[in-house]
Amino acid sequence: MVKENGLRALEAELGDCIDVSEESLKKASYDGLKIAFSPSAVIRPRVDEQVSRVLKLANQFKVPVYTRGAASNLTGSAAPVQNGWVLDLSLLNKFTIDTDVGYVTAQPGVPLIELQNAVEAKNWYYPPDPSSKKWCTIGGNIACNAGGLRCVKYGVTRDYVVALKGYLPNGEAASWARKTRKFSAGYNIRDLWIGSEGTLGVITEATLRLIPKPEKKNTILAAFESERKSLEASFEIVKNRIQPSIMEFLDRLTVEGAEKATGRPVFKGRPGRSVLLLEVDGSAIQVEEGTKNLLSVLKSLTDSISVAEGEDENLWEVRRTCSSAMFELGNRKLNEDVAVPLQELVPLYEKIEILREESGCNIAVFGHAGDGNLHVNIMYDRKNPSECERAEWAVNQLMHTVVQLGGTISGEHGIGLAKSAFMSIQFSKAEISAMRSIKRALDPNNILNPGKIFDIFEPWNYSQVNVTQPWDHKKH
Ligand SMILES: Cc1cc2nc3c(=O)[nH]c(=O)nc-3n(C[C@H](O)[C@H](O)[C@H](O)COP(=O)(O)OP(=O)(O)OC[C@H]3O[C@@H](n4cnc5c(N)ncnc54)[C@H](O)[C@@H]3O)c2cc1C
Repeated sequence: MVKENGLRALEAELGDCIDVSEESLKKASYDGLKIAFSPSAVIRPRVDEQVSRVLKLANQFKVPVYTRGAASNLTGSAAPVQNGWVLDLSLLNKFTIDTDVGYVTAQPGVPLIELQNAVEAKNWYYPPDPSSKKWCTIGGNIACNAGGLRCVKYGVTRDYVVALKGYLPNGEAASWARKTRKFSAGYNIRDLWIGSEGTLGVITEATLRLIPKPEKKNTILAAFESERKSLEASFEIVKNRIQPSIMEFLDRLTVEGAEKATGRPVFKGRPGRSVLLLEVDGSAIQVEEGTKNLLSVLKSLTDSISVAEGEDENLWEVRRTCSSAMFELGNRKLNEDVAVPLQELVPLYEKIEILREESGCNIAVFGHAGDGNLHVNIMYDRKNPSECERAEWAVNQLMHTVVQLGGTISGEHGIGLAKSAFMSIQFSKAEISAMRSIKRALDPNNILNPGKIFDIFEPWNYSQVNVTQPWDHKKH
């Protein structure tokens, strides 16, 4: 009843921003994890202040609020697990570029690709580059501290956030840091908001740092007989102090899936090989020098190398389809994004090979070798109870292995619902309790994104999937 009163108050104050149509509620019920929950309203603010009103009413009527960008996250971090209201920020989508200083100031709903294209047209560059860049938003990128392909040289979203504005969970306005190059005033809550998955505040404006656009790029593809050789080569490149702007690893199973999905070979004439996909960027001289150095290392390790001048869009398209190509290998995916210290990549992969054999599940691995951040895709048949059990066993083993190797259960996707059960593998009780204390201090009524990160998602069931198709941004 109280909640129904909340909805009435919301409709009275925000009228045409409120959508309770069946179609919209359905679209807002899930995200990239594809497990659906029913919200009671979708709210699409047109101006910042409306966000404040939503949060104030939510606190008054004790209704959970789930902030949402493009809903491309793969962990359920935008899913309205405790129902309530979905705060869809897609209409807050303006940005301005300061071409003198090299800053862009963006509202949260700006799609990353639009921002990247606009700054590049002005000879600036915004490096964070998740494979979902065609649709994911700046707000979602900041809230997940998104990474992507270029992190090996340029770092993650956090490295480009200069200042944030938005609202605390109680609806009060907050502004963290200024448009200065440095700050050292007070607690750094800007950085606490980054990566907090919409649990500590709602971002309504971000100022982001740009860098000069690289003049030139070369794409290099190298194929190896085994994953061990491929991963050793990636570490050899680092040890030789060579700095590619991208260094992606694909194992043989991924190559097979990507080839089936795209209908074209990844490396012509060399089927069945693990590959490293690299990019070198910079000035023309830097690219020439970088390519030469890279080839000298690679040539001592394999004879299967090809170099393309510029960006080989075909190859990057193959890389971007890897995630969805996994559905060539099974109808349910546990999509992990673990990260380990670079010297532990080979031991990690060897353990994954054992898990593949012992679980009998297709486990395909690709990802950001230069960051030690691998996407481990455990594929299984959700209608086969024994496979579900084996997939569950494999993911648990994987998480323990990663932590034993000194790594982390998530390198870039975050925790959401999907990984909350593994938090205690990486963090002590005291550490989780410290995180909970921060959440309670900022959000005493537990309004923003409740049920995530450290609240274990109890009904998790490995045969569960309410939305059966691979995630499709056009449906959101
Ligand atoms: C095919 C595919 C490839 C991907 N590749 C990568 C990759 O290479 N690297 C990578 O890091 N990720 C990747 N992702 C994951 C995902 O795209 C990123 O996490 C992205 O940052 C999510 O952005 P979004 O706008 O879709 O956010 P959403 O999914 O809508 O939301 C994600 C989280 O951010 C919160 N949030 C959204 N907006 C705000 C806001 N304004 N204020 C506060 N909280 C907010 C939400 O509550 C939620 O917790 C991939 C996903 C897909 C489907």
